[in-house]
Amino acid sequence: MKIIIYTLLSLFLMAVVGFFTFLPSRVDSGKNRVEFRPPYPVTGEITRLHQDLAIVDLHADTLLWNRDILKRSEWGHVDLPRLVEGNVLLQVFSVVTKTPRNLNLISNDDKSDSITLLALAQLWPWKALVNLNERALYQANRLQHYAEKSSGSLTLIRSGKDLQHFLEQRKAHKSMVASMLSLEGAHALEGKIENLDKLYNAGYRIIGLVHFFDNEVGGSAHGVDKSGLTGFGRQLIKQMEDRRMLVDLAHASPELIDDVMAMATRPVIVTHTGIKGTCNKSRNLTDLQMLKISKAGGLIGIGFYPVAICGQSPDDIARAASYAKDLVGIKHIALGSDFDGAVPQPFDVTGLPLLTKALLAEGFSEEEVRLFMGENVIQFLLANLE
Ligand SMILES: [Zn+2]
Repeated sequence: MKIIIYTLLSLFLMAVVGFFTFLPSRVDSGKNRVEFRPPYPVTGEITRLHQDLAIVDLHADTLLWNRDILKRSEWGHVDLPRLVEGNVLLQVFSVVTKTPRNLNLISNDDKSDSITLLALAQLWPWKALVNLNERALYQANRLQHYAEKSSGSLTLIRSGKDLQHFLEQRKAHKSMVASMLSLEGAHALEGKIENLDKLYNAGYRIIGLVHFFDNEVGGSAHGVDKSGLTGFGRQLIKQMEDRRMLVDLAHASPELIDDVMAMATRPVIVTHTGIKGTCNKSRNLTDLQMLKISKAGGLIGIGFYPVAICGQSPDDIARAASYAKDLVGIKHIALGSDFDGAVPQPFDVTGLPLLTKALLAEGFSEEEVRLFMGENVIQFLLANLE
């Protein structure tokens, strides 16, 4: 009898150790794969141009995973050493707080959540397990903590002034990287407008209104009702504009996009999206939506993941970017990778020179490459952040 109890106890302990030790890294390395493994060789002339670019990516979900972003990881897409190697000047870190189980692109309700289990397996604090606002604050604190530990290599940008100062400093220190915080889904406000200030104070300057399900603000392209802005949503847009925070329309339902564009008095961004013109999938932007957003001074981040570009190569990203450039003009497009977003990518962030090469092959001029790879975002942030 005793032997059976000891055996069962040992099996249970092994399962617990496995859950906390191996599950998170298994999920991370399994979901955040690359189509092409590094290194990513490019020739001298392209390397020269790439090293001279000011690169900004609008969307990486890296903070969801318990990797130390100051150290190079064997898996995933982004960390500080790899951002430096890819010559990234600014990375926007987006924070995910809740995703439905059995997630799909067509219709999801808000009843289940797979992030809680991941957070538990990664031993996040209790508050971050039970409350979405705390979960967002916890991830923001992690980025702040890494920035403080980095001895000046990683900086968190909160204002146009911060960015201006960073740009000056980086002229002499090419290995410095800036970061910004964005939220993926305003359900992390827990339906309380007073939580906006908590997020603002934690450093959030971009808020994606919805993620994979309809929330208190409005409808998701992957939600059940896919409706427009609610009263609470209108209140949120107004309060965000008062604080010069940026509204992100990624994942929004068509009705929500229309409602926001009808009321917004400031330019909006779409941090990561595909476009229907080259990839006719759910939530990818139509030509009309892209024109509306760009005419209002907005910025559209082109995603690198399969359902954004209907492919898995740098050429597929360049093709989408080229279509968008011809439609809305070079000034309104940017990088919106969705690195570490539990989606396969053509390359990790050190592979960005492959994209520089693909853009030139697609017919982009050197100046257009500079703008698309990051200068557009820098100008946009300097003009629109507080
Ligand atoms: Zn997303």
